[in-house]
Amino acid sequence: MGLRRRLRLVERRYRETRMFAKAMASTGHPILAQVIPIRRCNLACAYCNEFDDRSAPVETAEMLRRIDRLAELGTTILTFSGGEPTLHPDLDLLIARGRRHGMLVTLITNGLLLTPERIGRLNNAGLDYLQISIDNVKPDEVSKKSLQVLDKKLVWLAEHADFAVTINSVLGAGIRNPGDAHTIAVRARGLGFGSTVGVIHDGEGQLRPLDPERQGVWERVIGLGGGLFSFAHYDRFQQNITRGLPNDWHCRAGARFLYICEDGLVHYCSQQRGRPGIPLSEYGAAEMARAFGEKKGCAPFCTIGCVHQTAMLDAFREQPRETLAGILERRKAQDPEFEPPWLVTALERAFLRSSQRGWIGRVALRVLGVRR
Ligand code: SF4
Ligand code: SF4
Repeated sequence: MGLRRRLRLVERRYRETRMFAKAMASTGHPILAQVIPIRRCNLACAYCNEFDDRSAPVETAEMLRRIDRLAELGTTILTFSGGEPTLHPDLDLLIARGRRHGMLVTLITNGLLLTPERIGRLNNAGLDYLQISIDNVKPDEVSKKSLQVLDKKLVWLAEHADFAVTINSVLGAGIRNPGDAHTIAVRARGLGFGSTVGVIHDGEGQLRPLDPERQGVWERVIGLGGGLFSFAHYDRFQQNITRGLPNDWHCRAGARFLYICEDGLVHYCSQQRGRPGIPLSEYGAAEMARAFGEKKGCAPFCTIGCVHQTAMLDAFREQPRETLAGILERRKAQDPEFEPPWLVTALERAFLRSSQRGWIGRVALRVLGVRR
């Protein structure tokens, strides 16, 4: 790994630690906001309900206002999604604005427009993470997001990206060859990327259980292991999803997770657009407090991974030992040699153990520059 890439990694780890510490210190801010700078996409995947083929990019000044507002609300992670966000002409400016506010900035893209020059511009803008979903090894009528089409882009990313790259493969309705998910994950690992596997949800973000063959593939993919913040891999949420079983969890969408559509309205998530549908400029502490406490009827069979992950931080905050013990137990069942990441252990000691949380937590928050 080159020096520049190594320095970026150290700096990113510091800011991840800060994000985690802030999430532990308070529930009054969004952990993650997903924003849509453009609804248009240059592909048309058969299962997707999140794109159109005509809309214009959101005006840059308006996008900058939205990012500033999210910063005012205390948002720690900013994710650009779509449509296809790389179609926005000023995406680099938007990324840089998020970084200027101290956010971790993520891009979810289909990767089609990536070139060495474009990757260099994303480096310069300060992008922290990039996620590409690859649906199959060869393109078909369901999806053109295939390894065959994108492999060259992946090699360019491995050569040029200073940001972390994760390749997401999918299982579920419409995906013809379930074994492709494993092939894609192995290729991702071979290039030094992270890999995740998602289960395709229906039009309301709800579950479609996997058949035994697909469940087997899912287990093989998660058997490849994961990174520091990829606990979802090992969590019962994902396991239940693949088996068609309900999850008992508290969705904090509208509070810890916000979805901001191209019209600047706040929604719970991409699959619950219209709820609550309030303009971001009018969305504040009262709305977040209401959404934080609300029980969502769609939660038991929800498959929206990023909302699950933000909810896990709150579960960890509320019941640290139980949550951590459950995660580690499941992880160790897969890999008896597994040791918990040092960071999780250190933060759990600093913020959550009742005998130590007072002064250690205060010192740690000060060092990290986190205000409650
Ligand atoms: S590339 Fe992504 S946004 Fe575009 S149609 Fe496919 S799934 Fe939807
Ligand atoms: S449970 Fe939450 S994340 Fe899942 S579909 Fe409902 S509102 Fe969206």
